[in-house]
Amino acid sequence: MSARSKAKVADPLAEYNKKRDFKKTAEPAGKRASSEGGNRFIVQKHDATRLHWDFRLEADGVLKSWAVTKGPSPDPEIKRLAVRTEDHPMAYADFEGVIPKGEYGGGTVMLWDRGTWEPVEGKSWKDIDKGHLHFTLDGERMKGEWLLIRLKAKPGEKRENWLLRKLDDEFAEAGDALVEHGLTSVLTGRSMAEIAADETGAFSLEGKTGKDFTAQMAKAADHNKAKA
Ligand code: MN
Repeated sequence: MSARSKAKVADPLAEYNKKRDFKKTAEPAGKRASSEGGNRFIVQKHDATRLHWDFRLEADGVLKSWAVTKGPSPDPEIKRLAVRTEDHPMAYADFEGVIPKGEYGGGTVMLWDRGTWEPVEGKSWKDIDKGHLHFTLDGERMKGEWLLIRLKAKPGEKRENWLLRKLDDEFAEAGDALVEHGLTSVLTGRSMAEIAADETGAFSLEGKTGKDFTAQMAKAADHNKAKA
C-alpha cells in the first residue's frame, strides 16, 4: 500500500499538510470542513515548475483536485490531461498569491474561475472513485456539461492520469477561448504578472502565515472593486 492511499484512509488532507511548511507559506493549513453540503468549484492558474490549471471540486468536506496541464478547453474535440493531485482544504478556494520559492508548488497562483458544480442527474461525487464523473459547472468562465475520466494506470505510474473534456452543449465552442481570453483573476482582476510583482507589495503573502491569508485576499478583492 502506498503512503498516498494510506493517508487517504486516515485523513484526506494528511498528504497536503505533509508537503507544506506553514511557517513559510501563506497557504492555509489543511482541516477537513465539518459541512459536507457545499458544491463550490474553483480553478487556480498556477505558474509553478510547469504552468497548469488546478481544477478543484468541493466534495466530502475537501477540494478534490486535478492539475490540468494546458488548461480547460471548451472544445468537445479537445481532451485535456488532468493529473489527480492531493485533496486540498476548503480554505484553499480563496487562495491567490505567491507561494515562496523553495516551498512545495512555489510560484504564482491566480484564482482563475469559481462557481458551483453538480453531478448530472442520477450521479454522485462518489463516482470519482469509479474514475468517471459527469457533471455541470456554473462558473464565471467554465459552464455547462463536463466529463472527467480516469485513464487505465500503466505499470509503475504513481499519479492518476485523467482526461477533462467538454461535452457538446450551448457553452461548447471550437478552439481554446477559455485559456486564451481568461487572463485575469476572477477575485482581484489582476494578471499573473501583477500577482507575481506584488510579492512584497500591499497584498503580498510573503512572510504571512495561514491565518492571515483570508483577510489579505478580502483586502485585495475590495481594493480591486474600489478601483473599478
Ligand atoms: Mn498546482
